[in-house]
Amino acid sequence: MVSKDSKVSLFCENCGTKIYSGRYCAKCQAEMEKRAALEKKNEKTLKHINQMQGTVVRPKADDGQMRFFNNDKK
Ligand SMILES: [Zn+2]
Repeated sequence: MVSKDSKVSLFCENCGTKIYSGRYCAKCQAEMEKRAALEKKNEKTLKHINQMQGTVVRPKADDGQMRFFNNDKK
């Protein structure tokens, strides 16, 4: 049984507003969800960029290493 006068009082971890369940008030919850959606979008974009860079950088790095070892031996 949960009543409005329950001894258990929670506070929004973001703004401190009194809440009855969860960790954030409705306002902050909505804000978090918005931010989470944005971060997911950014993650996707970053992954895409990393993949594109990876295909360009890898062959160059291998080539450079081989040359470095050849020079070192002389
Ligand atoms: Zn809040």
